[in-house]
Amino acid sequence: MQDMKVGVLALQGTFTEHIVILQQLGAEAPLIRLPNQLDTLDGLIIPGGESTTMLRLMESFGLLQPIRELARDGLAIWGTCAGMILLAKQVSNYEMETLGLMDTKVKRNAFGSQVDSFEADLEIPAVGEEPFHAVFIRAPFIEEARPTVKILSHLPDGTIVAVRQNRLLACAFHPEFTTDLRFHSYFLNIVGQRVSDNCDDEIFQDSHLEP
Ligand code: GLN
Repeated sequence: MQDMKVGVLALQGTFTEHIVILQQLGAEAPLIRLPNQLDTLDGLIIPGGESTTMLRLMESFGLLQPIRELARDGLAIWGTCAGMILLAKQVSNYEMETLGLMDTKVKRNAFGSQVDSFEADLEIPAVGEEPFHAVFIRAPFIEEARPTVKILSHLPDGTIVAVRQNRLLACAFHPEFTTDLRFHSYFLNIVGQRVSDNCDDEIFQDSHLEP
């Protein structure tokens, strides 16, 4: 984990919590607010927060296109909660154009107003055998995913809440709000893999997404 530089988008939201964990794991974790700060990164985290606000600020600061281009060149990117919305190609209840990088269709505030926030112990085999305590706050979920997307975790009712597509990672919950460092370690492993590597060794799930 040494010598890795993983930027955290710091326009709004839970960026401080991500930075603390990345530093605990020995990574350099600069705040990212401007396009020229993206230049020398090995990875990028888009935190939880308010996706509309974050997207507007990203547009104003000219960050959307540079991040899209870096992702196409293989930059590892992880979106948590609002970050997952911003990575999706489709958001079923959203007007704004996202980064559009993952072959997912996401529903914003998907757990409804009555149950805005909850916690759950999730099976996430990719991060280890022990269940992962996940905090969901006005969370989205993944309605559909193309076969290019690997499902990393779902709730007991089948609702998809964590996915990976090569060097892109997304989860509906907030690993940055727990003391369990395994999800961040998993992302740093992806960051450390060569760009030509992907998750060929992992079996992609059957899933569907209309073209
Ligand atoms: N509901 C928020 C949004 O749509 C996401 C919530 C979160 O990141 N905790 O942007």
